[in-house]
Amino acid sequence: MLRQLRDGLDLYNFLTVLEKNQEHCRDLFVIGHVEKVDSHYIVLSVAPEMSESGTLKQLKEKEILNFFQDFLLDIEDAAPEDKGKLSVPEVMQWLTGQSHRHLLLSERQRFRIVVRFDHNCLDRMPDHTICYPIVSACTKTITFPTAHLNNFEEFQQNLFDSVRCGSGFYRIFLNYSLAFSSSLTITIVMLTLLLSVLHHYCS
Ligand SMILES: [Zn+2]
Repeated sequence: MLRQLRDGLDLYNFLTVLEKNQEHCRDLFVIGHVEKVDSHYIVLSVAPEMSESGTLKQLKEKEILNFFQDFLLDIEDAAPEDKGKLSVPEVMQWLTGQSHRHLLLSERQRFRIVVRFDHNCLDRMPDHTICYPIVSACTKTITFPTAHLNNFEEFQQNLFDSVRCGSGFYRIFLNYSLAFSSSLTITIVMLTLLLSVLHHYCS
């Protein structure tokens, strides 16, 4: 029966068309319309936490949001053979932990990517030259370090490095380090409290 189906499809050379356009023809054979994540889907979900209107900080934040949109459009329009480029689903995976669209309408309506801006990294660490966006895929939050995103080229390189290096085991290692440092901090705080209580009762 499959052979008959194949012969039937081949009548108008449809098999060749199928082989050459697998992506476009997949929806003809899959129940339901499976849509890939595109830049529009991400941009519509962005919920930025902006600084006060009219301030220099807000101007910088608007510029970074524009860079982000241009970055997504740029990788979306890249030629398929350009293997060095990222894809929009890869960026979605990095931001949210999933590379596909939400299946349920209620999930799509609730989906938000919170965007925050860190204006003070140089105040906290005056001697450093670069830092990268902090992404929490669980809470779907990204924090951009504004000091290192002064033009589109800087933004492009910064995000490219973040997605490429942050979506593999490096991220697990980073999370593990953060978890370890958090638990270490809690342990030190608890020991300090214990010592102060002992000191209070012994003195
Ligand atoms: Zn920094």
